[in-house]
Amino acid sequence: MTAHHPGLPASGRAAADLLTELRALTVADLPTRGGRTTAYTYDPGRAEVREAAVQAYVTMLEVNGLDPTAFPSIVTLERHVIGAVASRLGGDDATPGIFTSGGTESIILAVKAARDARPDITEPEIAVPVTAHAAFHKAGRYLRVRVVTVPVDRRTFRADPVALATACNDNTVMVVASAPSYAHGVVDPVARIAADAAARGIPCHVDACVGGWLLPWLTEAGAQVPPFDLSVPGVTSLSCDLHKFGYAPKGASVLLFRDQAMRLTAYYACAQWPGYPVVNSTVQSSKGAGPLAGAWATLQVLGADGYRDLGRAALAATRRLIAGVAQIEGLRVLGEPDATLVALGTDPEAPLDLWELADESRARGYFLQPQLSIDGLPASLHLTLTGVSEQGVDGLLAALRDSADTVRPHGTTVPPPDLLALLDELDFAALDDATFAALLPAAGIELTGEPTSRMAAVNRLLDALPTSVRDQLAARFLSALYSPHLGN
Ligand SMILES: *Cc1c(COP(=O)(O)O)cnc(C)c1O
Repeated sequence: MTAHHPGLPASGRAAADLLTELRALTVADLPTRGGRTTAYTYDPGRAEVREAAVQAYVTMLEVNGLDPTAFPSIVTLERHVIGAVASRLGGDDATPGIFTSGGTESIILAVKAARDARPDITEPEIAVPVTAHAAFHKAGRYLRVRVVTVPVDRRTFRADPVALATACNDNTVMVVASAPSYAHGVVDPVARIAADAAARGIPCHVDACVGGWLLPWLTEAGAQVPPFDLSVPGVTSLSCDLHKFGYAPKGASVLLFRDQAMRLTAYYACAQWPGYPVVNSTVQSSKGAGPLAGAWATLQVLGADGYRDLGRAALAATRRLIAGVAQIEGLRVLGEPDATLVALGTDPEAPLDLWELADESRARGYFLQPQLSIDGLPASLHLTLTGVSEQGVDGLLAALRDSADTVRPHGTTVPPPDLLALLDELDFAALDDATFAALLPAAGIELTGEPTSRMAAVNRLLDALPTSVRDQLAARFLSALYSPHLGN
């Protein structure tokens, strides 16, 4: 007789029992509603929106997006969703697009399309501001496209169009601008960047993953937002995530192209095997239609009015947060955010330990996302404010103030130099997960996975290490986290 793994009981369990277990498991998770988790989650704060999305998602749960000829419902829904997004972002009903599982998949496909449009270039490159999302580096790694990163303005955190143009050469297949950047929430000078790229015949992708479905509503609420969409000459593709400020369930992003030929280059077809002819618009092949239906339903139930209200609320929350942070000694907002994403840095004259501040805020019920220093840009804590944040912003400010008061007397800390030297020389490849996990306590790191766990030691260490070591350490940390024998 084989022993049974808890993941597969000998006989089936009752659904009610499972749901109880799931609910108990998620107690340890960060809250996904209420706005206290200021990254990862986007809460419209309206029960009827979620309910519509859930019902739509479940209705389409079993439909396979692999074959639109077998399930024509997905063509109708996708046309609606792409058309709605394109019409707000400088295109129209005829704008070619692809519905994808997220920003990263949209970006991978945009880079693939740009690469494959230039088969004459054997060593393709893309030029990106250093503030561009990590998804471009991932795309570069997956697709063997070299990613050339270019410094940004140290004061505004916006891309430098001259530096980007200078970084382009005969191998450049794409230039990137963000609207806005995730880390600092600022919109790059898209018009300049796209015009320079167009003058050299290079495609320009606008990463509006986080801002595409936010900036238009902020503009309507009176914010000054520079032009960034397909109406800008030279912009050839644009990504816009609906699972962010579209408030749709996860798994929803839109990739738009200026012309049909580029969308075709993003597609993949293969009849070189004895099975069904494969033709895919996305990286995924078989895929549930739930996310598409969920996104469609969310757009339908909120409507333009709903998004306008949520945009206005998020903008009001952001302005109050920025004003409140200015009153907290040692804290400051980096740059001048164009959207409702804010990076909190520390005042070099009166430095606060940001990593301790994040832990203290978390202990007070607010999750702030750590962002490491890079290329002369300081470390920061990220906050994304959404439609639900307006009611909570006073509580958030109180938690920040209180946390700052707690950490201020302790000053800042640097990781032990001998630990940094050790990690710098460590041959990660030669280390198994158990040995790695055994090293962690010495670095002040506990591998509990509990929401209460303190992450300051990890963040401080990562921030102090060279980027290549950071990557290896972070991957090792993930591997150890998923290793069941390590007692976490
Ligand atoms: C979120 C985000 C991405 C990546 O999106 P995922 O949906 O997490 O894959 C890319 N660019 C920007 C600017 C983003 O905010």
